[in-house]
Amino acid sequence: MEKNERTDNIMPREQKRPEMPIIKRKCYSCGKMATKPYVYHVVPSYSYGAQIPTYSKSDVKTKRVDLKGKKKVSVYNYCNRECYELRKPPEPYEL
Ligand SMILES: [Zn+2]
Repeated sequence: MEKNERTDNIMPREQKRPEMPIIKRKCYSCGKMATKPYVYHVVPSYSYGAQIPTYSKSDVKTKRVDLKGKKKVSVYNYCNRECYELRKPPEPYEL
């Protein structure tokens, strides 16, 4: 007779994964809530893969003109590419 049933060493066959939460983002173009948003990142001055210098307040080497909104990465959400084409995010210099 088993008097002490231990199941600790038994790995669960299926590991229940939490379901992906539905991400809803308001479309920048049409204002609808997009569940699978087409996300557009506006990274002023730097492109992806480029080395972004570490921000240091005491180390200001940037030109005055570049300071405005330079560190800010703007994120624009769209339903899809079409919405993006209809209303493109403002250029960094327009911000
Ligand atoms: Zn849209």
